[in-house]
Amino acid sequence: MRIVLLGAPGSGKGTQAAQLKEMYGIPHISSGDILRSEVSRGTDLGRQGAEFMNAGQLVPDPLILAMIEGRLRQPDTRRGWLLDGFPRTVVQAEGLVELAGRIQQPVDAGIVLNVSADEVVRRLGSRRVCRDCQAVTSVAEAPAGTCRLCGGPLILRPDDAPEVVRRRIEVFEAQTRPVFEVLRRHYAVIDIDASQPLERVTEALRVSLDRYDHP
Ligand SMILES: [Zn+2]
Repeated sequence: MRIVLLGAPGSGKGTQAAQLKEMYGIPHISSGDILRSEVSRGTDLGRQGAEFMNAGQLVPDPLILAMIEGRLRQPDTRRGWLLDGFPRTVVQAEGLVELAGRIQQPVDAGIVLNVSADEVVRRLGSRRVCRDCQAVTSVAEAPAGTCRLCGGPLILRPDDAPEVVRRRIEVFEAQTRPVFEVLRRHYAVIDIDASQPLERVTEALRVSLDRYDHP
């Protein structure tokens, strides 16, 4: 099973990625992890990527795609893969379609986890982070406002403030919708309502993906 998973901020993408990885026994591949790994191993591609990052620039799409290709050619991808948070742009999506065709690993399904802005504001607005140890908790789990691990004060991360969350969702919508239109021209693409509780979302994924599973 080869899956492309994209999700709005606060859609529970990390949790669902872990479930899908388990469900199909496939590696979880994120472009950020690949980039960090190439850089830390000091590969050719990693050194090139580091130059852009050190100059405060985005790593160009062809370089990212070359890294993705290297990763998809690893032996652990024989049963498929889960690509997380990639492609992010139309150029990357077109690159992925070309790459997947060339290495004969077509995408079985693209998934987008949709969630309403109001729901994300509610979810992230109740998240708290310990100022001292960075542990993540919620208002409900720590009503006293102090960290259970170290006693430090719990704060709302600036990224989780309602106006910032709404802006992040707008950016996601603007960038990701066109990406999905590219994928939709080539592959099955599934929209999932991720405003539901996490277990219901996992179940919806299982039901939707079943028909594309051909081991
Ligand atoms: Zn703490």
